[in-house]
Amino acid sequence: MNLHEYQGKQILNSFGVDIQRGIVAQTADEAVEAAKKLTEETGTGWHVIKAQVHAGGRGKGGGVKLAKNLDEVKELAGQIIGMNLITPQTSAEGKKVHQVLVAEDVYYPGDNEPEEYYMSVLLNRATGRNMIMYSTEGGMDIETVAEETPHLIFTEEIDPAAGLLPFQARRIAFNLGLSGVAFKGMVKFVNALYTAYVKSDSSLFEINPVLKTSDDRVIAVDAKVTLDGNALYRHKDYLEMRDKREENPVEVEAGEVGLNYVDLDGNVGCMVNGAGLAMATMDLIKQAGGEPANFLDVGGTADAERVETAFNLILKDPNVKAILVNIFGGIVRCDRVAQGIVDAYKNMGTINVPIIVRLQGTNADIAKDLIDNSGLDVQSAIEFQEAADKVQAVLA
Ligand code: GDP
Ligand code: MN
Repeated sequence: MNLHEYQGKQILNSFGVDIQRGIVAQTADEAVEAAKKLTEETGTGWHVIKAQVHAGGRGKGGGVKLAKNLDEVKELAGQIIGMNLITPQTSAEGKKVHQVLVAEDVYYPGDNEPEEYYMSVLLNRATGRNMIMYSTEGGMDIETVAEETPHLIFTEEIDPAAGLLPFQARRIAFNLGLSGVAFKGMVKFVNALYTAYVKSDSSLFEINPVLKTSDDRVIAVDAKVTLDGNALYRHKDYLEMRDKREENPVEVEAGEVGLNYVDLDGNVGCMVNGAGLAMATMDLIKQAGGEPANFLDVGGTADAERVETAFNLILKDPNVKAILVNIFGGIVRCDRVAQGIVDAYKNMGTINVPIIVRLQGTNADIAKDLIDNSGLDVQSAIEFQEAADKVQAVLA
C-alpha cells in the first residue's frame, strides 16, 4: 500500500527519524492556518507547499513551491490544490491534487551549504536481505545517477539475524563524506530509519532528499513509503491511511469483492483461476498477437455470481476487444464453471465483445457441450493453443 509523503513522514517520525515538519491542508485557507501554526512551532517564516499525490517528481511538475509569506502560502496552495499534476512518474493525464503539505523551509542559510543525499531501504530479492541504498547525489533523478555514475551509489546489506550493525551505520555516514555533528546525526538517522522500516513492515522507503541543513542537522525532506499489504493486519492504524482516490477505481472495486485484478494497457480481457495460469494466459495472448487488458485471478470459486462480477469488471475497460476465460478445473468442476458463465451471460443480456472459453480438467467435455449448446455467442476450447488461436481470429 502506497502512502502520501505526509503519512510516510508521520510513520518515520514515530520511530524517531527527524523530518522536515509540516501540516496537511485541504484548502488554501487551511494552508494559511497551517503555516501560522508551523511558524509558532518552528520559528520558520518561509514555507514549502507540496502537492500530496502518489507520485514522485512533483518538484519538476510544479507541485512543490516555496512561499515567503502568508499571502504566497495562500496563492500557491490555491494554485496547487485542484491542479492536475503531471510528473515524470504520472500518466500523461496526470494526477488530481486534493491536498498539500505545508512544510517548514529547511534550506535556510547558515554556516554551511545545505546538502542533499539519497537514501532508500528495500529488500534485495537476489540475496533475500534488506539493504540500505544511498548516494551523495540526492535531490535529483536517482535513475540518472544509476545510469551515468553508478559508482556514486552505495549499498549496505543487512543480516536479518544481527540487524543493522553500528559499523554499517558509521560506514554510511563516512561514505557520504560527513564528519563531526553531521556524522553523528547521520548515524542516528540511519539507525532510526532502519528500525522504522522493519517495525512498520514496509517494503520500500525512499527518502530523496535526506538533507544536511546549514546547521548540520540530518532530516528527511521527502518520504516515499510503501507498506507491505500482507502485514497490514498488524497495523490497524496504518490501514486508515489508505487513500482510494489515488488508486485505480476498478482495482479498488475488485478488491472489495475479493478478486485479484490488475489493470493493464491491452485489448484482451482475461478471467483465469490461479495466478500462475493467469501469467501463462497473458503470455499466450501476447504470442497470439494480442495484449492483455488485465490480470484477473478469480480464485477457486467460479460460480455464476462471481463470473458475472468478473465480466462486469473486465468490461469497464473500453479497450477490451475480446475476453478469454481460461479455467483449470482441479477442485472446481468445469461444468459448474460453464454453467456459471452461461447464467452470468444470460443475466447480463448482451455482451458486445466475443468471448472465448477454455475449460480443462474435471468434466471439461461436459462443460464444452454446455457452452456449445447454450445458443450464446461464446466459443469454447479445451486446448490452450486452440483458445489462443480463436483469440487471434477474433482480433484479426
Ligand atoms: P519530489 O519532487 O516529488 O521528489 O518532492 P520533494 O519532496 O523531493 O521536493 C522536491 C524538491 O523541492 C527538493 O529536492 C528540494 O530541492 C525542494 N524543497 C523541498 N523542501 C524544501 C524547502 O524546505 N525549501 C526549499 N527551498 N526547497 C525545498
Ligand atoms: Mn523527492
